[in-house]
Amino acid sequence: LTPSENQELYSFTSKFPGLEESYRILQKIGEGTFSSVYLAKPVAKNLLPKGIKSTVALKRIYVTSSPQRIYNELKLLYTLRGHKNVAPLLDVLRHEDQVVAVLPYYEHSDFRDFYRDLPLFGIKAYMFDLLKALEFIHSKDIIHRDIKPTNFLYDPFTRRGVLVDFGLAEIDMEPITNKCPCSFGGYTSNMVRQLNVDYAGQFPKNGYLKDDQRPGRRANRAGTRGFRAPEVLFKCNNQSKKIDIWSAGVMLLTLLSRRFPFFNSTDDIEAIMEITNIFGITEMKECALFHGLEFDCNIPKIKDKISLEALIANAVMMDCKEGDTFGEDSPAWELLAAIDKKGVIQDSEVGREYAQAITVLKKCMVLNPYERLDAKDLLKLPFFDEFRD
Ligand code: ADP
Ligand code: MG
Repeated sequence: LTPSENQELYSFTSKFPGLEESYRILQKIGEGTFSSVYLAKPVAKNLLPKGIKSTVALKRIYVTSSPQRIYNELKLLYTLRGHKNVAPLLDVLRHEDQVVAVLPYYEHSDFRDFYRDLPLFGIKAYMFDLLKALEFIHSKDIIHRDIKPTNFLYDPFTRRGVLVDFGLAEIDMEPITNKCPCSFGGYTSNMVRQLNVDYAGQFPKNGYLKDDQRPGRRANRAGTRGFRAPEVLFKCNNQSKKIDIWSAGVMLLTLLSRRFPFFNSTDDIEAIMEITNIFGITEMKECALFHGLEFDCNIPKIKDKISLEALIANAVMMDCKEGDTFGEDSPAWELLAAIDKKGVIQDSEVGREYAQAITVLKKCMVLNPYERLDAKDLLKLPFFDEFRD
């Protein structure tokens, strides 16, 4: 351990009397926005429920998190025990305002170390476990709200993935109809808000509500940039489990295109424009109106929907041209053999399998959340045939 790591461990254990009597902390393994995570071994084996491996992850939730937020995370984790693709809560320790959640330790690799090297079979295994986890938590009416690679611990060697981090999760209010309540009964013209995006130089510089004196719309925006669903970006007040499916779709797009991060916006307006670039202005206007916004932008380049096949093929090809990134036997060549640069899928075995993967992607990344498939139905698609029992 470096001196600073040693100091951090010392400050952790010294603020938490009794901790070291239960767990021996080995090293720090992760750090998120709301916590630090440590690898530890229980001192007394009988501390752990039967059948659990002996190493654990101690998630030290920062004291700056509100007690309500901490309670919410622990309660949901407890509700979600019993599925192999969701990390169960083994124990909770508290000393004054310090809270530590005890989870099984999962061996995994950093996403950045494998996302360009997964062959299609690995991508399938990754998405299968992710969707299994989502199917399970959604069956319990829980939205994760922060689906992204660092919250899905994947081991490319064993091909096992586990969903972690329920810090932003919440219970879903079941939608009543296939109409978004934020547009119930349609809009009268004085209800619709105008969202304009101005083109200034290379990037859209601002989005604003035109001539609108009403207070700004507010909605839950919790999540991570690049993974937010359109309804989150458009501040819809009826966000459902489908926001997790959109994020899972972004993960699949990342794996297929071998681009990470795929979306790289710094704010919601830029994020809307990134999505508009793919789906085209017509579909985005429809989507915005569905959530009560009239959407306009004067960016000349943005016009029509583009094909995801071509987008993926071009991203991979650009990466290949950039130099030494792919070796001869890299999985990228597998993709390049399956799809040509116009996005036409070849009629070969690998071509057909890629077509199945892209079908999954197209059913995840659907602008309208009511038309987006849920995890259960996604798992029924032919891409996952070989994994189903
Ligand atoms: P935060 O809410 O701060 O994002 P997370 O629960 O996502 O906290 O944990 C942060 C990081 O710690 C994860 O991205 C992962 O690298 C590591 N981590 C968390 N839980 C475990 C676990 N059970 N096993 C192994 N590593 C973990
Ligand atoms: Mg996290």
